[in-house]
Amino acid sequence: MTSPTMPTALTPTVPTALTPTGTSAPSARVPVLLSSPDVGALEEDYVLAAMRGGWIAPAGPDLDAFEAEIAQRVGVEYAVGLSSGTAALHLGLLGLGVRPGDVVVTSTFTFAATVNAIVYCGARPVFIDCDPATGNMDPCLLARTLHSLEGEWERVGAVVPVDLFGKAADYSRIVPIARAHHVPVLADAAESLGSAHAGRAAGSWGDAAAISFNGNKIMTTSGGGMLLTDDGDVAARARHLSTQAREPVAHYEHRDVGYNYRLSNLLAALGRAQLVRLDAMIARRHEIRRRYEELFAEVPGARILGGAGTDGSDNAWLTPLVVDPDEAGWDAPALGEWLARTAIETRPLWKPMHLQPVFAHARAELTGAAEHLFRHGLALPSGSALSDAEVERVLEEIRGFLGRRVR
Ligand SMILES: *Cc1c(COP(=O)(O)O)cnc(C)c1O
Repeated sequence: MTSPTMPTALTPTVPTALTPTGTSAPSARVPVLLSSPDVGALEEDYVLAAMRGGWIAPAGPDLDAFEAEIAQRVGVEYAVGLSSGTAALHLGLLGLGVRPGDVVVTSTFTFAATVNAIVYCGARPVFIDCDPATGNMDPCLLARTLHSLEGEWERVGAVVPVDLFGKAADYSRIVPIARAHHVPVLADAAESLGSAHAGRAAGSWGDAAAISFNGNKIMTTSGGGMLLTDDGDVAARARHLSTQAREPVAHYEHRDVGYNYRLSNLLAALGRAQLVRLDAMIARRHEIRRRYEELFAEVPGARILGGAGTDGSDNAWLTPLVVDPDEAGWDAPALGEWLARTAIETRPLWKPMHLQPVFAHARAELTGAAEHLFRHGLALPSGSALSDAEVERVLEEIRGFLGRRVR
């Protein structure tokens, strides 16, 4: 039973801001979350201005401006604002010509949304294992798999690399391999806005890319995404399909089955404010990662997956820890349990898609790398909204955990 006087559980950011720093006992109960939205006064101003301007209906000037600003930031010709990153993946695949019965090659080490979008198109996923150093698609394995699929006369509709935990995949190897087989590349850059590979922004590699503005991502519109591309036809097709495939005539005329996938103007206003703060939020996540790096540099058998990422290849969206239990004398799940006891949230790394009951039937080219990272990994609290005191508390708890095992 809820009473109207009970504090709401829906405002987790309020109590932390009011917690006095340095008094560990009472604050120990306030949860430290993995990656919560980082919004404040600027976001309020932008959303309020959109509301007061009367732009509540889906389309509007903030949506147009947000698309232009993201396109400019990433360095692509076109950006189409959509209701989610999953919708962007779906329309990206359709725009690149993926058809029912096709095979689509993707990384097994990802979030289910990547694969769901493939299945929405009536295509069959083929999973590729990852590079153990980064968790991203293994280019050698991709080359071998495309070669054998070709020999089997399969039509490969697309390759979908994923920028895991914000680290850009190895596009300078992946794109030429896909090109050699005449297969388009759709980058799942849902987690990697603000990262780059070989000096080019994540989201600008391949034929198109999907980014996400879900609540836990590097920047948020509460829910939303975008399809990015230099291909005017792909962008136009996505725009058309995202608005119920309405033909440009006054009466309602439809030649295709469409979707209701458009991003709303109000959420675009929120996104515009977040984009203003994106670099500061990335810098904050890097600062948090650096603190973890310093701590674990001294700890045998523990490493940060993907490394420091200070070369710009990584927006440090989440900091994933990987532990070799034989060398360390402890394992990642034990640290997760230790932190959970004082309400510090951690998560295992994505459970590989070939291990998911729903995709167990799909073909998978495996080395064991993704499975190893899943069993021995842990994502640490990484949100840019974390206060210094909260970061300090997490580090102190980790030191406590390690101390019990060393001494
Ligand atoms: C978050 C995410 C998505 C889906 O984005 P939504 O906006 O939540 O639909 C797709 N792929 C990856 C790798 C993600 O992390």
